[in-house]
Amino acid sequence: MDRFASVIEQTRPRDRPASVRFDLRATPSKGYGFYALHAIERGTLIIDESPLVAVPPGINDASYLLGALKKLTQEQLTTFHNLHFDDNEASAGEDDKAISIFALNNVEMGSEQTHGRAVFAKYSRLNHSCLPNIDNSYSASTGKLTAHAIRHIESGEELTTSYINLVQPAEQRALELRQWGFECSCSVCGSRDVAASNKRRQRMCSIREAFDIMVDHDDETVDPDAVPITPSERSTWAAELAKLCKEEGLVGRDLEHA
Ligand SMILES: [Zn+2]
Repeated sequence: MDRFASVIEQTRPRDRPASVRFDLRATPSKGYGFYALHAIERGTLIIDESPLVAVPPGINDASYLLGALKKLTQEQLTTFHNLHFDDNEASAGEDDKAISIFALNNVEMGSEQTHGRAVFAKYSRLNHSCLPNIDNSYSASTGKLTAHAIRHIESGEELTTSYINLVQPAEQRALELRQWGFECSCSVCGSRDVAASNKRRQRMCSIREAFDIMVDHDDETVDPDAVPITPSERSTWAAELAKLCKEEGLVGRDLEHA
């Protein structure tokens, strides 16, 4: 395990199945979202569900999605059609609306879409935050997506996930988020301290890249100023990364998508 993975492992939430209650409410600026009905402890299992509709890796043909939708029950289809879509796309017709819903609500099944992409009845409802409180993992053996609290969640707090790589400054995050058609107004992007956050996330990004370089190259081929070479330097950089994660409020699995 490299040092970056070890930092993540130390903060990985533990499975603790529980009955968690949350409801769907209108948000101030993002349509609808899920809100916790009670305080939720970090590590708590919040969502455990099978895909509503899934598209295997390598399939880019819309006819596959439209065919899969025909196999849904009426109730499942209603759930699917109640998800967010692009009004401009949807005005072209029902098929275009379905394609827009899939495009805006799909979730990777496994890292690098190993098992394709799917829309989920609950998880796809979660709005984005650059300081999310939920993250997911997909199990190919059960065919289910599970989502856990990655921090303590207050009663009444919105449940949020991240759609993007969080370890980058606000400007880059905003560019990535454009594909979902919104401007992020989360507690980080809307904060007066966004400049300090940007500085921390830029440095985290540099450290992450440096560790990637260490994995991908021999020591002789890299710029000694750009990466930690000695075990002592690597330890110092890993400690700095852990400190920045803590200061920024990002924990464990937020960073695995970086
Ligand atoms: Zn944000």
